[in-house]
Amino acid sequence: MPRLIAILAAALLTTSPTWAQSPSGERIQDPAPERHGGKMQGKVEGKVQVQWLGQAAFKFTSPAGKVIVIDPWLTTNPKTPPEFKQLDALGKVDLVLVTHGHNDHVADAPALAKLNDAPLIAPAGLAQSLALLDVASKAQRINKSGSLSPLGDGIKVTLVQAEHSSEYVWKNPGTGKDEVHVGGEPGGFIIEFENGFKIWHMGDTGVFGDMKLIAQMYRPDLVLMPIGGGQFVMNPADAAMVTREFIQPKTVIPMHYGTNPQLPGTPEAFMKALGKTRTAVRVMQPGEQLTF
Ligand SMILES: [Zn+2]
Repeated sequence: MPRLIAILAAALLTTSPTWAQSPSGERIQDPAPERHGGKMQGKVEGKVQVQWLGQAAFKFTSPAGKVIVIDPWLTTNPKTPPEFKQLDALGKVDLVLVTHGHNDHVADAPALAKLNDAPLIAPAGLAQSLALLDVASKAQRINKSGSLSPLGDGIKVTLVQAEHSSEYVWKNPGTGKDEVHVGGEPGGFIIEFENGFKIWHMGDTGVFGDMKLIAQMYRPDLVLMPIGGGQFVMNPADAAMVTREFIQPKTVIPMHYGTNPQLPGTPEAFMKALGKTRTAVRVMQPGEQLTF
């Protein structure tokens, strides 16, 4: 009997996911997504391209070639590579998403949407302020659980809960002084592409129990997760706990860390806290692009 148990255990082990360690120390699960350099590689049939631009800013290129940029803080972001600090360096952008009203998320969104004549979607209260202050006159409102498909049927974006704040600070050109305006409620976005691939950009958030519900409802393939900790978002231990206990996604990309001393969390601390799990952690460098 013990011999039978040993055989069964060996069979189970051989069917477990395999892991690899890259030279930069990241842990990846095979088969690995394709890795490219910092520049666009052109349309890839049936694949989603994900490029990190620092903090919470990402550029996604859909299988049909549609370009979505979320939380574009680029021109003054210290982690954004110099070649992407010019908004036209992103090429054609079809849709701009903003998770909440803080400057490190909304900063360049109105200018980027205007440059491309692209829709800008933001939580309802923030979109309202952007429109009424004439910062982004055509900003579209969305509420949590609400969905929009502004690029046609193939791509759907849904706003989901985040546990954070969202005041919007605007410099009044008449007085030269900063004013605080309604920024709506903060959120994260589920982005579903033409091939069914789903990304959950969590926005800025602390831990909340309904992360489990969101994972069950939407079953994201890739989760973009804040790990910077400090006084603002989940720290590496929080992020590891929700990855392991609540979400269990195929892949996590850590974000929103290291931009300033108030976000001290590191991917290494996140992976250490996570331990052995079926979730692959992909640590990106700003400007780098992965294909899923
Ligand atoms: Zn924030």
